[in-house]
Amino acid sequence: MAHLTDIEIAQANDINHIKNIAKKLDISEDDLDLYGKYKAKLPLHLIDENKIKTNNLVLVTAITPTPAGEGKTTVSIGLTEGLNKVGKQATVVLREPSLGPVFGIKGGAAGGGYSQVVPMEDINLHFTGDFNAVEKANNLLSALIDNNIQSKTQNLNIDPRTILWKRVIDMNDRALRQITIGLGGTANGIPREDGFNITPASEVMAILCMATDFEDLKKRLGDIFIGFTFDRKPIFARDLKAENAMAILLKEAIKPNLVQTLEENPAIIHGGPFANIAQGTNTIIATKMGLSLSNYVVTEAGFGADLGAEKFLNIKSAYAGLNPKCVVLVATVRALRHHGGAQKEDYNTPNLDAVKDGFKNLEKHIENIRKYNIEPVVAINAFVSDSEKEIDYIKTTCESLGVQAVLSEGWEKGGEGTKDLANAVINVVENKATQYKPLYDWKSPVKEKIETIAKEIYGADGVIYDKKAELNLRRIDRLGFNDFAICMAKTQKSFSDDDKLIGRPTGFKVTVREIEIAAGAQFIIPILGKMMRMPGLPAIPASEGMTIDKEGVISGLS
Ligand code: ADP
Ligand code: MG
Repeated sequence: MAHLTDIEIAQANDINHIKNIAKKLDISEDDLDLYGKYKAKLPLHLIDENKIKTNNLVLVTAITPTPAGEGKTTVSIGLTEGLNKVGKQATVVLREPSLGPVFGIKGGAAGGGYSQVVPMEDINLHFTGDFNAVEKANNLLSALIDNNIQSKTQNLNIDPRTILWKRVIDMNDRALRQITIGLGGTANGIPREDGFNITPASEVMAILCMATDFEDLKKRLGDIFIGFTFDRKPIFARDLKAENAMAILLKEAIKPNLVQTLEENPAIIHGGPFANIAQGTNTIIATKMGLSLSNYVVTEAGFGADLGAEKFLNIKSAYAGLNPKCVVLVATVRALRHHGGAQKEDYNTPNLDAVKDGFKNLEKHIENIRKYNIEPVVAINAFVSDSEKEIDYIKTTCESLGVQAVLSEGWEKGGEGTKDLANAVINVVENKATQYKPLYDWKSPVKEKIETIAKEIYGADGVIYDKKAELNLRRIDRLGFNDFAICMAKTQKSFSDDDKLIGRPTGFKVTVREIEIAAGAQFIIPILGKMMRMPGLPAIPASEGMTIDKEGVISGLS
């Protein structure tokens, strides 16, 4: 039988009313902010710090991925189904998809096969409007900045050449990376250079992800650093009295969204993706919400463990006092073939030699997870093109490293296919969990923090700082931002900052081109190699394959 597409499986599914999913978490109907029949927002008063301490957090991450993604979302959802099947009360807590990848190359972020969250079209498109709210809050600040520069009476003397704040849109649109605004004469503002980032890379998104409550959100919005005056005084969003209006726009966006998996288990989806150019994990509020309502919470951090998991552990968990008890490291035979040198057209052809060679990528990720004092479980996300020999090799080699590797068949079978994985995770959580430790102290010097990540996690010999980065470091020091967390912007395709270095590269250094500041999020963002915070579309965008019929039924969304 030909496999159904993700959207066909999702559309064939009998979706339950969201109030019945909420019942499973003992949420009363009164507490549900309904967005139609299948989506609801959850009020923040449901967060319970005591339950957060006793319930179990499981982080799903992956080896260095191929461009298609190795199935973290799919495994996270599948594992949640499996945990529920073996008798645990489990909720999956994910990030909201961005329209950039939906219409670009990678597709949506609602899982795949028989491990999906629904309604998948809504989740992948505008969902409950959180991204729009983030975008509006971000762009309100932009408008206030340009209005102030234009103003004769309230002018703060902002030097337009120093403004670091950019506009955002949730689209892959490279033409907006660098633009000139304010053209057309005196009535249209003062001309200056500006540019767009993609919405999930917005500092407002980072702030939403890091905020612990509404007051904290407001304070962080006020702390956004914008640039300097002509006499070199720093200007913050609070100087423009922007934080309250921005927070108003985020009034609903701060509340996590409840939806369901195909097997009618709870799914909480909240906050931005993009672990290569942002922090790439869901909101602290959503993770805490999950842990307040559910005995097991399965959550995903983006791209390979060198990016999303590094940020999840050193930034998010460290700040929020979370203690992930198990890390699930997703590997695919396909990606190991790739790391062993197989070409793209041969990704689906069995090649034991390539898998053997590519295993070193998985091995480095295993070593890295252990540096945080957490025991990983390897989930081999099963593809139809896998051979038994290749799977056996991965299992036995993991075993020789003392790590359990389990075949995860959630894509094909839903929760029936992930019971073994669920039991392996339960075993670690119940018998082997320890107190995890972050890799660096936020209070260490900035260069030391960057070097710790580069050397310990990437396996680099050292870090090179371009002249611009050195100047940025001086500015960070002068502004008193040295104690912020490091949120690396690096390619997801390699441990290094060079896409082409697959496998487990050694003997390389990474180059910090420049360093951005997100003072409200409390991040310092070193930009490594060629990274850009506004992606472009591929030659043949996914959008070309999408249709909607006269009944409003969508196809071609993946
Ligand atoms: P990630 O979260 O790691 O980026 P996803 O879970 O979003 O990856 O999966 C990426 C794509 O691969 C999705 O379109 C999904 O349907 C597909 N996929 C995931 N697992 C499998 C599998 N086992 N077999 C076939 N396709 C899969
Ligand atoms: Mg994903």
